[in-house]
Amino acid sequence: MEIPNFSKGENGLLPAIIQDETTGKVLMLGYMNEAALKQTYEIDKVTFFSRSKNRLWTKGESSGNYLHVRNIAFDCDQDAILIKAKPEGPTCHTGADTCWNEKNESIGFIAQLERVIESRKNGGDEKSYVKSLFDKGINKIAQKVGEEAIEVVIEAKDNDYDLFLNESADLLFHYLILLQAKGFKLQDVVKILESRHR
Ligand code: AMP
Ligand code: ZN
Ligand code: ZN
Ligand code: ZN
Repeated sequence: MEIPNFSKGENGLLPAIIQDETTGKVLMLGYMNEAALKQTYEIDKVTFFSRSKNRLWTKGESSGNYLHVRNIAFDCDQDAILIKAKPEGPTCHTGADTCWNEKNESIGFIAQLERVIESRKNGGDEKSYVKSLFDKGINKIAQKVGEEAIEVVIEAKDNDYDLFLNESADLLFHYLILLQAKGFKLQDVVKILESRHR
């Protein structure tokens, strides 16, 4: 078991960056002392020393959203830890997948996008792609959603994350247009999901 130079950190604590092993996204940052790193090695789940709880804290211990360890590395001068992990569920306690990507921000942007789509539907801009879709009618829009869904399925089988995410964006965008064409908002769908929750 390799150990960095914990004496370099204040109170023996060193920062630990947790990175998603598949997407490369930074998931969260925490602090580890020697006992936290030892436990992380032993149970293969990221364990920090929580300064607010003043004890060892295995991320996911109450939520079940564990970070399964894939690789542990130290920086050039042995005072910072980088852990590649496979997250089980969202990493941030807000429900977002990372601590730098708040769930509410993405929902806020979706609402903004829905307003733009709505204004295209009611506007007279002939050059608008969204407007041209509304002009072609519900069947054409629904067909477009089906095509984008198939493209997502195809890209899901490959390992090109860029293509997969872009097709996912296409799907969501056209789905928002379909909802609008039917007179609904994403919020109407979210309400149903919430009512099914537990
Ligand atoms: P968990 O370890 O996921 O069971 O969460 C237990 C508690 O730790 C939560 O109620 C939060 O107070 C805190 N917590 C969980 N995830 C994070 C995080 N990514 N960053 C900071 N605090 C967190
Ligand atoms: Zn360093
Ligand atoms: Zn967070
Ligand atoms: Zn597409």
